[in-house]
Amino acid sequence: MNLHEYQGKEILSSFGVNIQRGIVATTADEAVEAAKKLTEETGTGWHVIKAQVHAGGRGKGGGVKLAKNLKEVKDIANEIIGMNLVTPQTSKEGKKVNQVLITEDVYYPGDNEPEEYYMSVLLDRAQGKNMIMYSPEGGMDIETVAEKTPDKIFTEVIDPATGILPFQARKVAFNLGLSGQAFKEMCKFVTNLYKAYEGSDSSLFEINPVLKTSDDKIMAVDSKVTLDDSALFRHKDYENMRDIREEDATEVEARKAGLSYVNLDGNVGCMVNGAGLAMATMDLIKQAGGEPANFLDVGGTADAKRVEEAFRLILKDEKVEAILINIFGGIVRCDRVAEGVVEAYKNLGDQIKVPIIVRLQGTNADLAKEIIDNSGLNVESAVLFQEAADKVHEVLK
Ligand code: GDP
Ligand code: MN
Repeated sequence: MNLHEYQGKEILSSFGVNIQRGIVATTADEAVEAAKKLTEETGTGWHVIKAQVHAGGRGKGGGVKLAKNLKEVKDIANEIIGMNLVTPQTSKEGKKVNQVLITEDVYYPGDNEPEEYYMSVLLDRAQGKNMIMYSPEGGMDIETVAEKTPDKIFTEVIDPATGILPFQARKVAFNLGLSGQAFKEMCKFVTNLYKAYEGSDSSLFEINPVLKTSDDKIMAVDSKVTLDDSALFRHKDYENMRDIREEDATEVEARKAGLSYVNLDGNVGCMVNGAGLAMATMDLIKQAGGEPANFLDVGGTADAKRVEEAFRLILKDEKVEAILINIFGGIVRCDRVAEGVVEAYKNLGDQIKVPIIVRLQGTNADLAKEIIDNSGLNVESAVLFQEAADKVHEVLK
């Protein structure tokens, strides 16, 4: 589950990480109130209005703007709220902005120039450890830094058993070229950032930029957070941070039905039980010359109701030209699934305009084939994996 910038900052703050302070607003009037409050609390004269959408590169798309007085706060908020923000990370239609974060301006002048760094904590699956990735080249997108100046990207591997050790925090601050007060602040910053990542069960905590202010304070100006869905049950308080407006509508519906569904770009819808078989089925579809339109795992209890639910989800996708059902009947018997398919087909009959290929293997597979073949419906049955692939190939021609 992805979070908005302001939600990530709330988590950071709760772990003692210094942040650029802000207040969320959904209207221009609220934005002005928020700005006044921030001025009272922080003494800031200028404010930044930041679109809250699940996409980076907002600055480049006109979703982050500086306001030098309350009139500008109001005008900019009016302009950004409700706009379709297009950034290098959104589709060309962009993302609708429902709310903005009004923040204090932290790039104020002083003894030194403000400096931007990059920092993220993520899971290194290959090593089975956590990793802090950081760079003195902050503010711009890290992919460009990685491509043009890979030597400016540092990594620090953190053993989850010990957590971040003091010498590692000092190494980070040193490699970022810091000294004095800023060095000390950075040690605290990175230590608490790691704790926020670990304590929230995140798989990614990215701060770009981390800012060194003109008076040597270190703070998070942005945050991009991905919480590990499998650990969400341990964080009931984060569950209400979910913003379904930012999520794929079909995926939201699937989650409600308890189905594991991921929308993809292809033309062959698939319904499978078990994640491993789903992956193998997607390979098979590609091999047959198609592209999977989705990942859909109906799980261990593929009864008629679930099959129908799954059918409905796949049919919502207008790109689908064929549907492949590939179920292994272990605990769930194939004849039950076949009945489910036939029943669902009858219920949805006129909505189904694409060919359906069903492969049922395992317990009572023979019976299942008979049910499908005798149903009189436009459903083809296949017994072998290859046979299913050939049939997909055939209907796509
Ligand atoms: P992103 O474009 O989606 O990554 O959004 P960020 O939160 O990273 O903001 C984009 C850029 O806005 C930053 O890199 C800064 O250059 C600028 N910015 C953010 N906060 C402030 C601020 O308080 N004052 C000024 N002057 N610029 C800011
Ligand atoms: Mn950013």
